[in-house]
Amino acid sequence: MKALIELQFDNRFARLGEAFSSHVLPEPIAEPRLVVASAAAMALLDLAPSEASSEVFAQIFAGHKLWSSAEPRAMVYSGHQFGGYNPRLGDGRGLLLGEVINDAGEHWDLHLKGAGQTPYSRSGDGRAVLRSSIREFLASEHLHALGIPSSRALCVTGSDTPVWREKQERAAMVLRLAPSHVRFGHFEYFYYTQQHTHLKQLTEHVLHCHYAQCLQHEQPYLAMFREIIERNAEMIAYWQAYGFCHGVMNTDNMSILGITFDYGPYAFLDDFDANFICNHSDDTGRYSFTNQVPIAQWNLAALGQAFVPLIEVDALRESLSLFLPLYQAHYLDLMRKRLGLLSADDGDEALVQRLLQSMQSSAVDYSRFFRALGDSPAAVAVARLRDDFTDLAGFDVWAADYLLRSAQDGAEQTQRRTRMHTANPKYILRNYLAQAAIEAAEQGDYAPVRELHQVLSNPFDEQAEFERYAQRPPEWGKHLEISCSS
Ligand code: AMP
Ligand code: MG
Repeated sequence: MKALIELQFDNRFARLGEAFSSHVLPEPIAEPRLVVASAAAMALLDLAPSEASSEVFAQIFAGHKLWSSAEPRAMVYSGHQFGGYNPRLGDGRGLLLGEVINDAGEHWDLHLKGAGQTPYSRSGDGRAVLRSSIREFLASEHLHALGIPSSRALCVTGSDTPVWREKQERAAMVLRLAPSHVRFGHFEYFYYTQQHTHLKQLTEHVLHCHYAQCLQHEQPYLAMFREIIERNAEMIAYWQAYGFCHGVMNTDNMSILGITFDYGPYAFLDDFDANFICNHSDDTGRYSFTNQVPIAQWNLAALGQAFVPLIEVDALRESLSLFLPLYQAHYLDLMRKRLGLLSADDGDEALVQRLLQSMQSSAVDYSRFFRALGDSPAAVAVARLRDDFTDLAGFDVWAADYLLRSAQDGAEQTQRRTRMHTANPKYILRNYLAQAAIEAAEQGDYAPVRELHQVLSNPFDEQAEFERYAQRPPEWGKHLEISCSS
């Protein structure tokens, strides 16, 4: 364990030079205070949890102080937003402070979001508000705890600095951690500006730093593209299996590492709804829950386009065709686990689809259903769940097939509950839970957001005293409108 000021930096991305990022210092926010910190994320940097209480902690992560070996940079990228190409995006309100090397030799990017204006701010103020910073923090750490690949979050700092959105709010900063902040949009930027030497330099950087295992391959760039596709297929399978809706799957929000990245108006499903649109600004439902699968493939094709100067077109096409079957296989694996099945059967895909249709027509709570399905024995679990369905005929046929399939599966039934509870979380970051914690934090009470973070960091454990966090949303919490503006 070390003190915050002892962190060691090795700023590989900054060394790529001026074509890739610009030096910008953070603009501090006034009267900084620590809203919440993640001990698990701090451990990635070998920091003891007690470090978060030091005065310097809030000062650094509110932009007042910096390590001498940090090299804050705003990165340039572009991307496809809602299907249209935007030639110049970049870090408009976040800075890559530097890359920390921990005792295990891992590099972790420190990215301070809400750190003020940069050359890429366009008309924006460079700020992030408390509400969106808390939402990013909670989701990052919760998805990680669920086993879903994600960027991480170290802390949120709040302040008195006013920020104007639809109404006046307060500026905050969230410190994001990830092995890399390179997005699909970085490659698109160098491709569409025809800077092919820089495109190659970026590709070499990502290959050596993050896909070194592909270097042994005959065609390392192609091997890396394949692995990016595989990782995305797995990530999207997790989203679909756990009911996570990202909300803004623009290519500038897609990490080159295949981790969930850039949290905005995301949501976990309450009642199952395949057509759910969590982003209030997404008028056409381009990023609806079910569209996440084809959109991920679309985004990978946009990335593939940027690789055209480096990889043969036929090989790119062939690789892209791997996405859907890889996704399907991962998704079915996860859904079998959620159903408590150990073996694979040809009928499983239909079994899952029929269940989802029945849940949709009966507006059944997605997460609570699977948690309760883990009750033992299976017949008792199913009989209890029957009450939640209005489509009784549909459910009864499904339940009979499920019980038969479970009996044939051969899985140890006495372990059923324990096994299924490790796949089906009790606690899920529902929008209404985040909203209640945010409203308290906006009034200066950080206890609820800290408590919610603790509960959601152990989502599979029964936590008797926090039963209230496992409830369906109240009426006010069902139709919260969350949009991109944050
Ligand atoms: P996002 O919707 O957060 O993924 O952001 C899309 C683009 O807009 C990125 O280039 C951001 O850096 C930029 N951006 C978002 N909010 C702001 C802001 N308040 N000030 C400046 N740039 C911003
Ligand atoms: Mg973004």
